[in-house]
Amino acid sequence: MRCPIPSACTLFVDFDHTLYDSDAFLRGLHRAMAPSVSWRRFHSAFERLTESSGDVPYDPAAHLEHLLRDQLSPEPIGARLAEFVERRSGAFLYDDAKSFLDQMRSHGCRVELLTYSKRDVRLSQLRSADIMASFDAIHIFENSRGEKVDYAIGRSTGDGQHILLDDHPRILQKIEGTHLSGIRIRRKVVKKYIGREPVLPNVSVVENLTEAESTILAMMSQAQHG
Ligand SMILES: [Mg+2]
Repeated sequence: MRCPIPSACTLFVDFDHTLYDSDAFLRGLHRAMAPSVSWRRFHSAFERLTESSGDVPYDPAAHLEHLLRDQLSPEPIGARLAEFVERRSGAFLYDDAKSFLDQMRSHGCRVELLTYSKRDVRLSQLRSADIMASFDAIHIFENSRGEKVDYAIGRSTGDGQHILLDDHPRILQKIEGTHLSGIRIRRKVVKKYIGREPVLPNVSVVENLTEAESTILAMMSQAQHG
């Protein structure tokens, strides 16, 4: 089924845990860059860094420099990290991601990436996964996770359907009462929400991108037929 009005649908799509297995990336980073450090220490430093960072995205260079400062100076860490991210990080894209993006565009959706990340890291991951050309636009927010959803809400006031696809309840909670429709992809259990998942009215829940595609096509069809 092809949408008869191109770009009548705009899909805003998240990256971490939506298109990309960010946990597998972290394990790969550990194996490649810091095998002398235990996983336990590597992961707890990651958690401390991300919990204390406020509105600054995860910085793998700062993480590695903290763990390896007794062994290496920042320059070789930076060079090895750039090589890993540029050449090997594409392997952690979920298997269903590229075909999903291409299918959405073939159905007439405009696809925009909305992501909260260090810019150079995200661009390297996108290049490594060979999906730069799968988006109509790429927006990387480095200052605040909230800017991402504010951007999508700001864009969804005109005609046509606007859909936000994200894994995180905290992001999807913010779209209530706006013109944005939400789809939550449940790739992983979010630890802090176990047993107390927030209620997300008007947000569809899917388990993978095949289900997301069917849900989006149903939304488009419903919008066309009233
Ligand atoms: Mg995410």
